[in-house]
Amino acid sequence: MINNDLQGIGMTSQRTRDRLVERLREKGIKNQRVLEVIRTTPRHLFVDEAMAHRAYEDTALPIGHGQTISQPYIVARMTEVLLEGGIPDVVLEVGTGSGYQSAILSRLVPKVYTVERIGALLQKARDVHRKLGLMNVFSKHSDGSWGWKPNAPYMAVLVTAAPEEVPPGLLEQLAVGGRMVIPTGSKDGVQELKLYTRTTEGFEEKTLELVRFVPLLDGAVR
Ligand code: SAH
Repeated sequence: MINNDLQGIGMTSQRTRDRLVERLREKGIKNQRVLEVIRTTPRHLFVDEAMAHRAYEDTALPIGHGQTISQPYIVARMTEVLLEGGIPDVVLEVGTGSGYQSAILSRLVPKVYTVERIGALLQKARDVHRKLGLMNVFSKHSDGSWGWKPNAPYMAVLVTAAPEEVPPGLLEQLAVGGRMVIPTGSKDGVQELKLYTRTTEGFEEKTLELVRFVPLLDGAVR
């Protein structure tokens, strides 16, 4: 049973996953390691059982508490851009959600720190990480707008909820040469996915594409 659970059957089978990776390739994802990790990570375990049959569609899905698991294309794109600067020792993710993005990262970099403000979601994500034997994901229940200071500065920061403006605390925790991928914009309007790179003089900003994320909210809740 455990085996079927992890490997999937029917709409969660390896063939279904292969088709998803084919789509991501068509949409322009080039990093082979990212594609391979997506191909071999069971996304259906990160959504409710009732949604499992849709887990390998290239779409965001509800995970409860008004939140969503990001669309696979977006996960792939953000990961690819983050790693274009080389493989960082550590990635800080803000917005653990289902834990899917952190699981993908954990298979590409040595260590992942992830912060989530909704306690119930974080608990579920931790359970899935444990089930998959991912030992290099470290998580914290907190408002991630403030980053995770004791481990800063970071060469790579990935934010999976959209603030209207980039939180200054996160920019501060970026190392010189470090990269931050973050969506910004209003809750109901247009959001832009941005790449910030810290230089010795300040920050370089590049807009990657238009996106739609749940808002980055203040404070932690149960
Ligand atoms: N990376 C997630 C995407 C989840 S959606 C995944 O792979 O499933 C974004 C998440 O960000 C939500 O779970 C939401 O609760 C969380 N979030 C929003 N504002 C936050 C904040 N200030 N600090 C930490 N997490 C936050």
